[in-house]
Amino acid sequence: MIGFLSLGSNLGDRKGNLERALNLLEDSPTLHPSLKIIKVSGFYETEPWGGVEQEPFYNLAVKIESTLEPLSLLRYCQRIEHLLGRERKLHWGPRVIDIDILTYHNYRINSQELTLPHPYMERREFVLAPLREIEPELVLPSGRPIQEVKGEGKVKKISFA
Ligand code: AMP
Repeated sequence: MIGFLSLGSNLGDRKGNLERALNLLEDSPTLHPSLKIIKVSGFYETEPWGGVEQEPFYNLAVKIESTLEPLSLLRYCQRIEHLLGRERKLHWGPRVIDIDILTYHNYRINSQELTLPHPYMERREFVLAPLREIEPELVLPSGRPIQEVKGEGKVKKISFA
């Protein structure tokens, strides 16, 4: 099954945190063998969302292929968040790493633990910009082509030349 994840970090070594999360997602057969990264976007520096005063985020998007059930995928992402030392203090506050599942196969889920597709994905440019880069032909859950949807918030692609 194909899925899209959104990763973000705004504490410490933001680029390093995202790279470590990508490595754990892909290279850790002991954690889970049944997930493969297909595409990774570049890094984007983005404005924090949610009104909490904090450093800008680095965000990226990842296309994955996996046989995991949705809740197992969520748990796997949460395990990586824990391994990288994410502390849950403030809702929408600073974080070492945040991993959100945007869409997964054609699952539509509305449980306490997991909402799929991610409810805010079409409103946030920090989600849409990297996703547009890796999947320019994507049709969003609302039925609109990603090229025609612009989210809120300032986003700047970073070049590490
Ligand atoms: P946050 O602190 O914003 O990262 O929210 C984390 C919580 O969101 C977790 O407890 C998850 O159970 C829940 N959640 C609901 N839907 C999703 C999703 N599509 N991807 C990741 N987390 C989700």
